[in-house]
Amino acid sequence: MKRTIGALSLTVAAAVALPAPASAAAKGVDWAAAPEGFIVPPLNPTGVKLETKKLAPGVYALLSGRPAVDNNGFIVGRRGVLVIDAHINGAMARQVQAAVRAVTDKPILYLVNTNYHGDHTFGNYAFPATTAIVAHRLTAQRMRNFEHEKGLILRTVDNDPSVLADVRLRLPDVTFDDRMTIDLGGRVVELHHFGYGNTPGDTVVYVPGAKVAWTGNLVVGEGFIPPIFEGGARNYLTTIARFAETLDVRTIIPGHGTPATGAILARYLGYLGELVVAVRSAAQAGWTAEETVARLSLAEKYLPPKNSPGGALRPLIAGLHRLNVQQTFRDQNGK
Ligand SMILES: [Zn+2]
Repeated sequence: MKRTIGALSLTVAAAVALPAPASAAAKGVDWAAAPEGFIVPPLNPTGVKLETKKLAPGVYALLSGRPAVDNNGFIVGRRGVLVIDAHINGAMARQVQAAVRAVTDKPILYLVNTNYHGDHTFGNYAFPATTAIVAHRLTAQRMRNFEHEKGLILRTVDNDPSVLADVRLRLPDVTFDDRMTIDLGGRVVELHHFGYGNTPGDTVVYVPGAKVAWTGNLVVGEGFIPPIFEGGARNYLTTIARFAETLDVRTIIPGHGTPATGAILARYLGYLGELVVAVRSAAQAGWTAEETVARLSLAEKYLPPKNSPGGALRPLIAGLHRLNVQQTFRDQNGK
């Protein structure tokens, strides 16, 4: 459903109660069950500076100085500002707001959470009460598993509880299902949900006038492969196909990693398609999940060259592939 919202209709939308949390289905990736070789994403923001990069008039990326640590962004219109993602704690959320303040005095009217994970939502509470937090309906639902998520995120920040000590749950004020359009005044921003990707509510924030898309965890940085944490490779494939056929994207600002061009979507489609076919063949040949993970190693074309700047990320990407194989096997075979 397409909706254009202004300040007035926001109040109405915010009054709609969120659905009750799903119970058994509402769980993300289990780090403890991940295969050998999988590396928990290193998301510790301590000492990280977000660099402001202007992409078009009023359109800014905030790029983290450390590869896996979250990127953000903001878009400025005549009425005010929309921020993409809240980062992992109050300190980082304040750094995002300081970056906005270095560019404009206009109010931060909206904050979009691209998925429910703590590194995209735990900073919500540190934004002004007057900022409307917007998220997909399933993102808002899953955020209610706050303590469970805190436990998962703790592993990504070197088990340092001080990183998350200040964090409090602040749920979205406005939710949407498929699509939502926000007019900031002279600058239109579209929110798109194309289906299950890395999480059930993955949201793409798209600025049609600049052909820029923020993709959260759905598309991570240049040189990476899709992170299949839940939902399976087949859903992910369909979602990326819908994304590619719907939006004309020149620049992708991923939730993690280096900015990419729209061409990365073709790489994702290739990887996911090959994965689905290879895992099906493995199961038909009678391989177990463990055998499949061990034997279906990642093709060299999906790894950064050893001596390139991204070469250090090879173990992280190869480990992620092992998780992807495991998740896909489970999805296709119900175990
Ligand atoms: Zn993330």
